[in-house]
Amino acid sequence: MKSVLVYIDEDALAYSVDLLEIARLMYGKRAFKAYALSAAGEHAEIQSLFDYVCIPRKESLANFEAARIAHCIELLHREYSFDAILIPATHCGRMIAPRAAMRLRAGLVADVTAVGTDGDEVLMVRPAFSGRMLATVGCREGGPVMMSVRPRAFSYQERTLKAGTLLEFNAPSLNGPGIRLIERRGKAESHDIRESEVLISGGDGAIRDFPQMERLAQLLHGRVAASRKAVDKGTAPRSIQVGQSGKIVSPRLYIALGISGSAQHVAGIRNAEYVISVNTDRHAPICSMSDIIVEATSGSFLNGLLQKIEGSNQEHPGG
Ligand SMILES: Cc1cc2nc3c(=O)[nH]c(=O)nc-3n(C[C@H](O)[C@H](O)[C@H](O)COP(=O)(O)OP(=O)(O)OC[C@H]3O[C@@H](n4cnc5c(N)ncnc54)[C@H](O)[C@@H]3O)c2cc1C
Repeated sequence: MKSVLVYIDEDALAYSVDLLEIARLMYGKRAFKAYALSAAGEHAEIQSLFDYVCIPRKESLANFEAARIAHCIELLHREYSFDAILIPATHCGRMIAPRAAMRLRAGLVADVTAVGTDGDEVLMVRPAFSGRMLATVGCREGGPVMMSVRPRAFSYQERTLKAGTLLEFNAPSLNGPGIRLIERRGKAESHDIRESEVLISGGDGAIRDFPQMERLAQLLHGRVAASRKAVDKGTAPRSIQVGQSGKIVSPRLYIALGISGSAQHVAGIRNAEYVISVNTDRHAPICSMSDIIVEATSGSFLNGLLQKIEGSNQEHPGG
């Protein structure tokens, strides 16, 4: 039986739990014991999803205490000999993962977006050379298999309830200066397209239509996103690129305007609930995965829709 440790980032609980999907892909549904490390000591929401939840005895570590948390991972590994250690590639996870790998003298594959196996070898896919290539990294022997995983790249659907056992451990104290919380400020409105439930996304066929896309996004309380071609042409910033070398998104509604639907783009929208594509070519690959296909130019679609919405807002203000 394999054993897998998942680091729970308290600020990204859902992304952290989704990492169980990787364990399932690597080892099969019932062939691993799932351990969670909750440095914050929170266990109510995750206890029924893991076999064991490890929490520090009598204290709570903030997730930015990367050095101490990495040390906790080392101590737990020495005790339970994990086959794999999975860490979400969130802000804090990115600080913790390399420190833990150093302590364990283990290799770390960062920013993983897909996982497979070849016999006993675990294969991890990650963007390389600023996203221009995808690298597949194999872990043949030794271990543990360590990876940080791009948020939303995996989705864990299995919801068999477990009677997670709490395992308390003594968190190591810090030698030397650490990170201290000086002040906490409220989170500003997020501009991260991954947080948005509605995305209006433009590609090469909609290069001239980004201003109208902004207007539509505002009216639908969504955000504008883009294909890599639109980014490479300088029409959109890299921070809103969707896809394998951009962001993996899971909005409720994804409107793809003038996007052909390359494999690299589609890899970023696998988890979108509802896809509408607007394209002059009804045979564009993205159409085969769309719930609605609009065969039109993106400009005419946007103008028509904006007129309708803005017109009805004038007739029914506040409605
Ligand atoms: C390693 C690697 C990583 C990559 N990562 C990504 C990634 O993360 N994200 C990404 O998006 N791409 C990525 N790419 C690039 C990808 O292969 C495609 O080149 C890119 O997605 C194409 O962008 P596009 O759909 O906007 O453009 P095109 O493929 O040129 O498609 C334009 C579409 O617009 C339609 N069209 C034209 N005029 C109009 C109009 N007036 N109105 C409506 N429709 C119109 C056309 O019919 C066509 O379907 C990557 C490539 C590599 C090699």
